[in-house]
Amino acid sequence: MSDKSYMKLLDKAWSQLPPDVTKKDRFELPKPASSIAGNRTVLFNLKEISDRLRRDKEHILKYLAGELATAGTIDGNRGIFQGKFDNRTLEKLLERYTQEFVLCPTCRQPDTKIVREERLYFLLCEACGARSSIRGM
Ligand SMILES: [Zn+2]
Repeated sequence: MSDKSYMKLLDKAWSQLPPDVTKKDRFELPKPASSIAGNRTVLFNLKEISDRLRRDKEHILKYLAGELATAGTIDGNRGIFQGKFDNRTLEKLLERYTQEFVLCPTCRQPDTKIVREERLYFLLCEACGARSSIRGM
């Protein structure tokens, strides 16, 4: 089977999963759904993760690709990385991303947004109002 048809098949399987019926108010780290196809790793639910974290797909992809020291591209709802990476690796990186760029260091709530002031980036918390500096990417 070609890479392309294999990915299509996986996409289909993924899209047929039932919608999240256990949605709670409590914040949960999004779990990556990824698969290795040839020499690439496909992250199928990049969009879902970005929606959940309320961060740009581009920002998350850039972080992951940077940490994996590889090239990453966005393909619709998916992120595609050069090289083979297992799901556990992506999960760990997403946990770190969430710690660094989503959760407020003061109150641990995820209701934050990234603001840029000149060359500096801050995490602005909508829950407690804290403003914490974060690194730019
Ligand atoms: Zn806060």
